[in-house]
Amino acid sequence: MHDYLVVGLGLAGISFCEVLEKEGKTFTVVSDSSQQASQVAGGLYNPVILKRFTLAWKAKVQMELAQPFYADLEQKLGQKLDYKVPVLRRFASIEEQNAWFEASDKPGLDHFLSTTTVQNKNSSIDAPFGFGEVKHTGRIDTATLVESYQGYLNKKGLLTEESFDFSCFEHQEGHISYKSIQAKRIVFSCGYGLKNNPFFNYLPLNGTKGELLTIKSPDYNEENVIKSSVFSIPLGDDLYRIGATYKWKDKTNEPTEASKKELLDKLKTFLKCDFEVVDHVAGIRPTVVDRRPLVGQHPKHKNLYVLNGFGSRGVLIAPYTSAQLFNFIERKDSIDPEIDIKRFTKKYYNP
Ligand SMILES: Cc1cc2nc3c(=O)[nH]c(=O)nc-3n(C[C@H](O)[C@H](O)[C@H](O)COP(=O)(O)OP(=O)(O)OC[C@H]3O[C@@H](n4cnc5c(N)ncnc54)[C@H](O)[C@@H]3O)c2cc1C
Repeated sequence: MHDYLVVGLGLAGISFCEVLEKEGKTFTVVSDSSQQASQVAGGLYNPVILKRFTLAWKAKVQMELAQPFYADLEQKLGQKLDYKVPVLRRFASIEEQNAWFEASDKPGLDHFLSTTTVQNKNSSIDAPFGFGEVKHTGRIDTATLVESYQGYLNKKGLLTEESFDFSCFEHQEGHISYKSIQAKRIVFSCGYGLKNNPFFNYLPLNGTKGELLTIKSPDYNEENVIKSSVFSIPLGDDLYRIGATYKWKDKTNEPTEASKKELLDKLKTFLKCDFEVVDHVAGIRPTVVDRRPLVGQHPKHKNLYVLNGFGSRGVLIAPYTSAQLFNFIERKDSIDPEIDIKRFTKKYYNP
């Protein structure tokens, strides 16, 4: 009998397994590869919303939890995951420069926003108004994280790689079973796959498709993340990730020519050197109508839980929400009402 069965091994599943292991709980994981968000993500962690120059939701506390979380994972997996790199926000006008400086004075934001303009020194970039620098930002190599974590669990015999088959699932008070697996509780951390979950598909998960390109450009020579109408993220070896798109209708993981064109058109508004496209990927962000995560206990079946709705900020949100769920289950702490799925029970749950 395990303490937990975790279904889904993206950022949500990994972060919950990490809490479980630290707290000495036993668990096993079932996951397939039907969803790709964590594998394809740009992996940026950045506490500032760069459209409006405001602090993202709970960004400070999330940053404080995320730093040691990824450092511990690097140690445990013996893999470099956290690449600390500043984000340079390209200004499109003097008005934007002024808005930035106004914001950089505000409490909370002053820690993250530069108070001077960074002049453009890269001849491959067109940026006549310069940049604002966001500090304490970086990139988690999420593809390597997922792959290494799968390897880590496989070595311990704790990962079953298959699609969760609800016809083989039974639950009673204090006990669930899935095929030969017995556990006290089950946590569904399936990303957009939650749509096919008969217990939690009442939750208003929208899903927003995103696509990213990888380009190779020996002439680009840029060490910072550049944020203009798209992000350009340096990966080393003259490779850069370019993204991302936001599409609300298509829910497949298939890259499209239309999004590729959109990304290239946007990239060419500031990148002036030659490059070639070497990769193109897509995934579905688990986005929610009110832009907050989905965390909590099933309204009726008390040993069924959900950890989802990380939207476009999974890297920072994962450690925070996992701790919230664990402390709720094991320590009887209440979940932050903004993320507790209870907020949707009245409106959407229809037993
Ligand atoms: C193009 C793109 C760019 C992004 N860039 C960033 C970024 O720069 N920074 C950032 O913080 N976030 C970014 N995100 C968002 C981030 O990727 C997500 O918030 C996060 O990965 C969601 O993690 P998850 O574990 O909830 O879901 P997922 O990563 O989708 O993982 C869910 C897992 O559950 C499995 N699963 C689903 N259903 C079942 C089932 N029935 N049985 C078994 N297994 C199942 C899936 O196959 C998958 O392995 C980006 C997303 C996209 C698509």
